[in-house]
Amino acid sequence: MMMNKSGMVSKIQTRIRTEPFKNYYDLVGRELGRGKFAVVKKCVEKSTGKEHAAKFLRKRRKGQDCRMDIINEIAVLESAAANPFVVSLHEVYETTSEIVLVLECAAGGEIFSQCVGENDEAFTEEDVIRLARQILKGVAGLHLSNVVHLDLKPQNILLTSSCPLGDIRIVDFGLSRHVDSADVREILGTPEYVAPEILNYEPISTATDMWSIGVLTYVMLTGVSPFLGDEKQETFLNISQVNIEYPQDIFQGISSLAVDFMKSLLIKDPRQRASAEDCLKHPWLNGHSSPLPHLRTSLLSENSQSESEPESPSPELLIVAAYSTCSGQSEMKVARGPFPFDEPFPTRAKIKQELIC
Ligand code: ADP
Ligand code: MG
Repeated sequence: MMMNKSGMVSKIQTRIRTEPFKNYYDLVGRELGRGKFAVVKKCVEKSTGKEHAAKFLRKRRKGQDCRMDIINEIAVLESAAANPFVVSLHEVYETTSEIVLVLECAAGGEIFSQCVGENDEAFTEEDVIRLARQILKGVAGLHLSNVVHLDLKPQNILLTSSCPLGDIRIVDFGLSRHVDSADVREILGTPEYVAPEILNYEPISTATDMWSIGVLTYVMLTGVSPFLGDEKQETFLNISQVNIEYPQDIFQGISSLAVDFMKSLLIKDPRQRASAEDCLKHPWLNGHSSPLPHLRTSLLSENSQSESEPESPSPELLIVAAYSTCSGQSEMKVARGPFPFDEPFPTRAKIKQELIC
């Protein structure tokens, strides 16, 4: 495997086509979504009539050539081609300014919508259990081949259909990296970008994704983002102190096994966190019922973790600081922080308020 020093893969199998994309595809309907540097549109392949999602990626971002980042994204998608929970890559087109990834279309959209949906739209715990199993199977497959996603959040987990609730597809491998012990050291070996105290912390590992899955589960179950503060700095502090609560009002009717599951992931020390394979064996995901929890009491005994260590940035901050592959992206990452929900994240209560007003 051809890899540069920051865990990006530089060799791909897919033939990059230079003919005009529009000769082979018709764009249909509205945009499916967009991120910082990409627009995703639904398209129909003229020769087959099949629907796909075309992700248009700008090669230059903030004056930097980011073609290698896109090649890395393609390489990761190729390596996960057999993974049923990773979106599949059909074709790639390139123009002077853009690369177009023709992807399987996940017609159900982002799980984000249902995370913040009102009662009848929102996921039930049963839904979350089924979807969490799929996310974990997908992520376990990535981790088995030493790929870390590094941007797992409700906007990057899509559904094949929303009603009836379909299956999940993991998308957006724009920040993904190959990690094995050698790479991790190399990523750490870019000290000029990293504050010395940050270097004392754990490097990027598959456990980094597991933390995100803990946050993701919390959001899917409650519609509330557990670490979100009023300011970015407060959010970072909440994360680094593992300042999290499972209050009774928002956890009403949610099983104590679900809380136990999240607590096995939202642990500061990445080595202590459950792996994707561990998670798949957790009783919550294996049909064990549990009595309704007395969350206030269990909360009291769970705070010890954040008190046992001096205050320090979480391992995720390290990743943020260590990115140096594309300055545009690294800036974006620092600005957005390790916390996956960078946009103001509405809670169900807030949405309700807006609807009433
Ligand atoms: P970015 O790297 O800019 O965040 P993403 O790959 O996350 O780009 O795509 C942006 C958005 O486009 C996603 O959050 C999702 O809403 C939508 N999208 C991406 N891929 C697909 C797909 N294969 N099918 C349907 N919608 C998609
Ligand atoms: Mg995205």
